[in-house]
Amino acid sequence: MMENMGSRKFRRGDAVAIGILLLIALGAAFFFWLRAGRGDDRIAVITISGRVERSINLTQNTKTETFSMDAKGHTVTFSLEGDRIRFIDAQCPDKICENTGWVAEPGEAAVCLPFETSLKVYLQKEAPKN
Ligand SMILES: [Zn+2]
Repeated sequence: MMENMGSRKFRRGDAVAIGILLLIALGAAFFFWLRAGRGDDRIAVITISGRVERSINLTQNTKTETFSMDAKGHTVTFSLEGDRIRFIDAQCPDKICENTGWVAEPGEAAVCLPFETSLKVYLQKEAPKN
């Protein structure tokens, strides 16, 4: 009698625990599906003379990286840090690009006019491919 009740209780508790785990897993799957499916990732797009030279998914990025690109014969250096990115070094005269600082949100941009280089953040579904 006692053993039966005990095992029944255990099973019910087990079922509840499994149910909760399933709900959490489903919720997480749904969350990622929503994010991926709607194209809401933030993409940093670097264009040089109007051409897309590099696209970086900021939402998925966890790295810290510094990289340089050639823009009209000049070296332009960017710093990527998690979900934000900026110009850190360009040999342009005005330094407006560097002074703009970090960009991270859709619609934010930093532009180096002398070198025709732009860095702009888009939603994935709106990001230019080329
Ligand atoms: Zn500049």
